[in-house]
Amino acid sequence: MNYKHVVVAGSGVLGSQIAFQTAFKGFNVCIYDINEEAIENAKKRIEGLKPTYKSDLGATEEELADTSNRISYSADLSKAVADADLVIEAIPEVVNIKMKFYEELGKVAPDKTRFTTNSSTLLPSQFAEATGRPEKFLALHFANEIWKNNTAEIMKHEGTDSDIFNEVIEFAKAIGMVALPLHKEQPGYILNSLLVPLLDAAQMLLAKEVADVETIDKTWMIATGSPLGPFAILDIVGINTAYNITLAKAKATGDVQIEKVANLLKTEYIDKGKLGRSVGEGFYKYPNPSFNQPDFLKV
Ligand code: NAD
Repeated sequence: MNYKHVVVAGSGVLGSQIAFQTAFKGFNVCIYDINEEAIENAKKRIEGLKPTYKSDLGATEEELADTSNRISYSADLSKAVADADLVIEAIPEVVNIKMKFYEELGKVAPDKTRFTTNSSTLLPSQFAEATGRPEKFLALHFANEIWKNNTAEIMKHEGTDSDIFNEVIEFAKAIGMVALPLHKEQPGYILNSLLVPLLDAAQMLLAKEVADVETIDKTWMIATGSPLGPFAILDIVGINTAYNITLAKAKATGDVQIEKVANLLKTEYIDKGKLGRSVGEGFYKYPNPSFNQPDFLKV
């Protein structure tokens, strides 16, 4: 593995997990985020992952200390990427934000740096030209709770160099991921091609007032044997990401029902600080959500 220095851009739900996992596996990681406030939040998120790695993976104090020692922080993009072999972008799922980011990144990163996007719903070809180095750009998409849901979908766009595609597959394995190569661009990759229609349908049922959150989740859990219903999954995804995706879809289609879903997420959840499991409340309250109660699925 030739990569040593990895930059993770964006340190929200996924960025902080990617940074921690990468450092845990021995790479030097610099977290880049927009300002000092975001950097302070990143530090808290990184600290917050330690107990999870301890309980879920049995990580030792020494391993955890080594992990945080390998992580540095910067709100200055050109300094952050000065020696980067790889940038993993995990900034908001908003086209203009990503476009501006890649234009700037392309200018300040050294020639050797490969760029990957963790975008869930946007295609790498959309940003390839903006990067200024389309052949060194591709998607590297993680699932939430990366340390245990360890899939990495690696997806080329038409202009990605095959050697770089293979390098990123090797990198994904080196950080403990099951590498899942996608040889053609596919909106939503494999996971979200399956998952997004389910989550959309659940939110639509709620917005149309067909049934409440618990009834919808219960139906899915009992009927399919799944341990989580769509709203429990949305709490893990984070309501901000769900909102950004729904709002973009409402704007693109002009569909008033989808707009209703976006409004519901904004007024009933985001505005009330119910941003999902990472903040302790979303559709459910944590750490003891009702769907984990012994009688949740009973008659
Ligand atoms: P988030 O809202 O939790 O975090 C976004 C982070 O980006 C924040 O730290 C914010 O300060 C930072 N940011 C904002 N503008 C920036 C800029 N211009 N430059 C650098 N940083 C900036 O979002 P998230 O849920 O972590 O999602 C990030 C990306 O990962 C999205 O593309 C999303 O589609 C993808 N993703 C999310 C999930 C998930 O379950 N949440 C899963 C897979 C992929």
